[in-house]
Amino acid sequence: MPTTRPTKAWEVMMRGNARFVAGEPRHPRQDIERRESLAHVQKPDVVLFGCSDSRLAAEIIFDKGLGDLFVVRNAGQVISDSVIGSIEYAVGVLEVPLIVVLGHDECGAVRAAIDSIAPEAESVSPYIDGLIQQIVPAVRRVSGGNGHDPASVDASEVGREHLRDTVAELLERSELVSDAVARGVLGIVGANYKLHEGTAVADIIVGNISPADITTDSAAK
Ligand SMILES: [Zn+2]
Repeated sequence: MPTTRPTKAWEVMMRGNARFVAGEPRHPRQDIERRESLAHVQKPDVVLFGCSDSRLAAEIIFDKGLGDLFVVRNAGQVISDSVIGSIEYAVGVLEVPLIVVLGHDECGAVRAAIDSIAPEAESVSPYIDGLIQQIVPAVRRVSGGNGHDPASVDASEVGREHLRDTVAELLERSELVSDAVARGVLGIVGANYKLHEGTAVADIIVGNISPADITTDSAAK
């Protein structure tokens, strides 16, 4: 049965981000009472799947507290079995109504993926390469398939394409997630975080999130 929970969860995220952007964070739910009340149970409202970049500190940039966010992060926010398993746990067991996939500008993983297409690209470790290769399809699309010059590739555009790929792959590979979206109990927002301004701007919205209630620029409110 469809609910308003996905929309409400995103609205709360945007309000928290707006406080952070304005330099007026409340640092909610970080006290002793909150800590103790969560000792035996958690009921987060949001899965935050984002890049590991140290500047994307999840609870800080959305002005959240203990027990609010179920956080999954890796470099370049790339899908893996463990990422899907973690997200499915949050959606299936904890009944979280919203997944926010968060990319950002000036992403080192995106940069590395762009640099990797150059003929004289330096080799990296197999594990780092495994992350980068998942971003390379976005690089090839943006560069038109003939991009041998990394300097000519628009990194912001690659970041956006990769974000969209990531949301699509999550829906494609996880039946649990796509079923929850189809039932109206789960929404997904793919957003880009701007390091300088601190704003998280929605780029893709999937599922039961009412567009009428959504502004795609949280700094506007
Ligand atoms: Zn990054």
